[in-house]
Formats: sequence, structure tokens, C-alpha cells
Amino acid sequence: MKNKILEYFLKYVKIDTMSKEDETTVPSTSKQFNLAKILVEDLKELGLVDVRLTDNCFVYGRLPKNSDSNLKIGFIAHMDTIPGFSGTNVKPNVIYNYDGENIKLNNITLDTNTFSYLPSLKGKTLITTDGTTVLGADDKAGIANIMGMLWYYVNNPDVKHCEINVSFSPDEEIGGAMDQFDIKGFNSDFAYTVDGLRFNEIEYENFNAASAKVEIKGFDIHPGDAKDKMINASRVAMEFDSMLSEFDRPEHTEGYEGFNHLTDMSGEVGYAKLSYILRNHDKEKLESQKNDFINIKDFLNKKYGNIVTLTITDSYKNMKEKIMKDNRCVTRAIEAIKKLGFNPVSKPIRGGTDGARLTELGLNTPNLGTGGYNCHGPYEMACLEEMENVSKILIEISKTE
Ligand SMILES: [Zn+2]
Repeated sequence: MKNKILEYFLKYVKIDTMSKEDETTVPSTSKQFNLAKILVEDLKELGLVDVRLTDNCFVYGRLPKNSDSNLKIGFIAHMDTIPGFSGTNVKPNVIYNYDGENIKLNNITLDTNTFSYLPSLKGKTLITTDGTTVLGADDKAGIANIMGMLWYYVNNPDVKHCEINVSFSPDEEIGGAMDQFDIKGFNSDFAYTVDGLRFNEIEYENFNAASAKVEIKGFDIHPGDAKDKMINASRVAMEFDSMLSEFDRPEHTEGYEGFNHLTDMSGEVGYAKLSYILRNHDKEKLESQKNDFINIKDFLNKKYGNIVTLTITDSYKNMKEKIMKDNRCVTRAIEAIKKLGFNPVSKPIRGGTDGARLTELGLNTPNLGTGGYNCHGPYEMACLEEMENVSKILIEISKTE
């Protein structure tokens, strides 16, 4: 299975599937179809049924059950790579029997001080970039892991399993595509995104998320005649920001601590704008963060006379609440990881996932690891033995008596 996973992975990472911000269509880039079409062929070659590619670039397929189980489990991974760093012309570099030392690529070094886990991977097979692009392990490792599981079942027909539905999706990195996921057609009791990092992860808590836009209309007048008249919108914007707690910033928070993050600001005397993202695992606490914004707006409006407008928009929700109502997906994964002799790790995700959105839409979908490391940049790499462990975990999850 290991060699097959490597073969799939190397094939997929070489295909450019960068997504693009600020596009109104799904997929955001048509080149994602290039990988989707190959995946359709690979699924058909393995004998999956109902294999289809939709106009919005979702690949679906089904491996019918060979047991009496009525359970239907879904596995999902995304095809796109981040818009912010090149995923064009990826040249994967396979290191067999890694020596545990610094890894020199063309123009960068994966050094054991910065990446302190590297020595623990001594003897393993690593796949790195050539230093100039992302690798795309996020999330083509997830795709290869799912394909590895399917390949195993097809080649070991005596191993009993439930119905398995798979989907490879576009545009995870820019968000929003899951609203077009065919939950009904996917017809699964629950699903997993295979899109994390460490192979023994099972994640089912993420942020509740909102955004806040603050707009300030100043009073612009010649500075020579400004006494008691001018209201400088830029200064009011700074005042607004200074009233938010400094401790609630991303650079001062971790674990379950939420934050308000100033992502963008612009300002002149007459008009200024601040954009924030608000995050918290606890929805009550997120509401209280929103209230801080409202209180500051009201205070400044009283002080200067209705010059501040505030727009708060909810973005996504913590999946934990819904998952806990039917947590078979979590218990099944934890049991599978333990049964293989690994130690399951659950950490709160300090972000969102496609699965969080699917959970909100009615399909419970926690997140599993992939065996990838350092995603979203040229240091990205994957460990083949850990990818194989993920495939084994997927097999254990979907196996039946
Ligand atoms: Zn990802």
C-alpha cells in the first residue's frame, strides 16, 4: 500500500491546482479540473461506482459495501493549493531512509533547530519540495491517503467494510465551496475531512468566526481653520482600535483563547475603515467580543456625533456542538487510532475547516490528519510512513465485522 500511496501522491502534487481569492465562481480556477479528471479516472480504474465530476469541480464516487453493515461513511479531501504561494511546476523530492540531519533544498534549508521534530523522522521516507513552490501535501496527501484506502480494499476483497463515499473538492483554501457540496447525493451517516497534519489527529472543535467592518466618516476642513471643528477619521479609527483589549490579539493568544484581529486599515481625514476578524471556540465569548465592538461604536458616536458605523457578519461556527449530538464519528476514529496502537490527539483547531461548514449544513464531519508538515510554504513536506498510517486509520474506521 505504501508504494501505491507514494505513486498517487507524486502524480497529484505535480498538477497545478492553485485556487484564487476574490473569484465569484466555484471552482475559482479552471485548472483544478485537470486534477479532478485524473481522479475520476483513478476512481473508475479501482472500480468505484457512481463516479462523477460536477460542473463546479466536485468529484464523487462510491465503494459499495461487502458486509451486512448499514453504515455509510464519507471521506473528503480538497484538491486546491493556496493562492498565496506558487503551486506551479512542483518538483517533489523523495528522500528514502532520511538521515535525521538538515535538508538542503535549492535555496532553503529545512534545519533541525527550526523544525525540531525532523530527527524523530530518521529512517523514514520524506517528500519535500525543491524549495521554490509548495508541495501541495495540503491536501493531496489527504487525497492519496483516501486512494490508498480504496486501493487496499479493492485488492483485499475479503476484508469487510461498510459503504464508503469519497469526494475530492475544490477551493478549500479560499473557503465557501462547501455550500455547493451535494450532501444529499453523498448520502453518508457522517464523514471525515482528511486535511490535518499529524497522522494521529482527530479534530472536531474549531473557532466560531465573525468579521467586523468599522467605517468612520470624519469632518475634513482646512487645518488652518480646524479648531473645534475638524474630526480626523484616521485618528478616530486609531482610538477605536486602542479601546479593544491588547490581550485579545492573535499574537497574544493560543489554545482556547479567542482573538480580535485587525486585518486591514485605511484612512484619510474624511473617511477611515478598519476590518477585523473575530474568533472564539466559545460562542458566548464571541458574542461578548461582538458586544465590545458595539459598545466602542456607541461610545465614539456619543463623543463625536454618529460618525461610526459597524457591520458584523457571522462567518462559520464551531462544529463541536452539533458533533456531540451524534459523536459516532469521533468515537469511531478514536477507537480506530487506538486499535492500531497509536495515541489519538484532539486539539482545538484555531481556524475553520470544510468539515465545520458541512457539519453546520447537517453532515457531521470532523477532521483527520494526513502525514503532512509545514503546509502553505516551501518548507512543506510529507512523511510517507505516516501517510500510510493515515490510510490504515481510514481502513480501520470503515472496516466492519
Ligand atoms: Zn487543507
